[in-house]
Amino acid sequence: MKIAVVGTGYVGLVTGTCFAETGNQVCCVDIDENKVARLNQGKIPIYEPGLDVLFDRNVAEGRLKFTTNLAEGIAGAQVIFLALPTPPGEDGSADLKYILQVANDLGPILDQYVVVIDKSTVPVGTAEKVRAAIAQNAKVDFDVVSNPEFLREGVAVEDFMKPDRVVVGTTSDKAKKVMEKLYAPLVRQGNPVIFMDERSAEMTKYAANSFLAMKITFMNEIANLCEKVGANVDDIRRGIGTDSRIGKRFLFAGIGYGGSCFPKDVQALAKTSRDYDYDFRILKSVMEVNEDQKKKLLPRVKEYFGGELRGKTIAVWGLAFKPYTDDIREAPALENIKALLAEGANVTAYDPEGMENVKRQLPEITYCHTPYAALDDADALMIFTEWPQFRTPDFEKMTRLLKNKVIFDGRNLYELEVMREQGYTYYSIGREAVNDIVSQAEPTL
Ligand code: NAD
Repeated sequence: MKIAVVGTGYVGLVTGTCFAETGNQVCCVDIDENKVARLNQGKIPIYEPGLDVLFDRNVAEGRLKFTTNLAEGIAGAQVIFLALPTPPGEDGSADLKYILQVANDLGPILDQYVVVIDKSTVPVGTAEKVRAAIAQNAKVDFDVVSNPEFLREGVAVEDFMKPDRVVVGTTSDKAKKVMEKLYAPLVRQGNPVIFMDERSAEMTKYAANSFLAMKITFMNEIANLCEKVGANVDDIRRGIGTDSRIGKRFLFAGIGYGGSCFPKDVQALAKTSRDYDYDFRILKSVMEVNEDQKKKLLPRVKEYFGGELRGKTIAVWGLAFKPYTDDIREAPALENIKALLAEGANVTAYDPEGMENVKRQLPEITYCHTPYAALDDADALMIFTEWPQFRTPDFEKMTRLLKNKVIFDGRNLYELEVMREQGYTYYSIGREAVNDIVSQAEPTL
């Protein structure tokens, strides 16, 4: 098939590359000239494990192309994916301006039947709006399908090539046949392509992300209670996760969820609820708890230093909102770093992939080439992302570098017993504090 993908970000580039890998002829379109120029030089603008191999192969074999010109990109395409941003507007609603702009632009340049596919996460009713925007100027027959994407950054290629399920919202038999053909190579093991109407498909994506955000948030609330009653949230996780009705995933307590999807999608679903006059109380709590959770460790840090962070240097491990990505959108690390800077602290940071993106927003902090370099002469360590390389560090080396043996861990990376043996003061989430010496900390003048 000939495929156009409009919007070549995390979702668009993975979609385009993976469909080229299954033998289609793909052209990716983006308005960002810089991005397209880099892609045309063979450079991938994002970090996504495994994408490079597929990208190189499909570019070399002529199945994957890039352009800034929409008309050129969609020429001859049987399907056009819209993988455009849907950032939150002032009131939490998903901003549809990028999608509707492209829909308007598409109308006059369509010259044969095509299936336009909403791959972006969009609120209920968007397929109808896209259809209306295209129809204003279209001279040919077309269908608009809702096909939300469930890939996770960090394992996006695997998720795309072997999806648990594919959700397709359409009431057109013609479009349904095209979608079946398109996805057939990805569901050969029998994973379902679930067809439904457009509105239900749009809602499915928000329901999935909101449910997962709620699952994490529920565990964060259990963690907060664990700290009060003297229980260990990791044991609770193992105790309940083995119940097949609950499942093991998304039960890790931590310093709050972030990323480009959960925060905005929960907000957008809450906005839809308000629009339809439905009081979705669980969602409101999820948002509130997550906001508090992101700030959870800061009071501890401040207390440890006797209420004064001015002049202290805090080392930060992890900037990306989760491991295996360079995506820093809504990452809890950023909010915490800004709060530390506002308190007059200095920050030295290390992240394997996220530093370039953070540099643009926070040029005033010190970026280090290794995790240990960030610790050199720092007063404390804070951890925000569970990159595997942070899991088994050389504690003796850390002790030599850090001024104080203290770690504030937002991702529960270390066993409490290990921290006791190492003689560290250790604060984590939903577990007892180790060597809690807050009251003995030297006051800072
Ligand atoms: P992104 O910001 O990484 O990429 C969007 C791209 O669209 C950018 O490269 C931008 O330059 C381009 N663009 C903007 N306006 C354009 C225009 N008029 N013409 C052509 N290109 C244009 O966004 P993303 O993370 O890929 O997300 C895209 C959508 O997919 C969002 O709705 C998001 O919620 C959803 N989604 C994202 C993920 C994820 O993990 N990132 C997962 C599932 C769904």
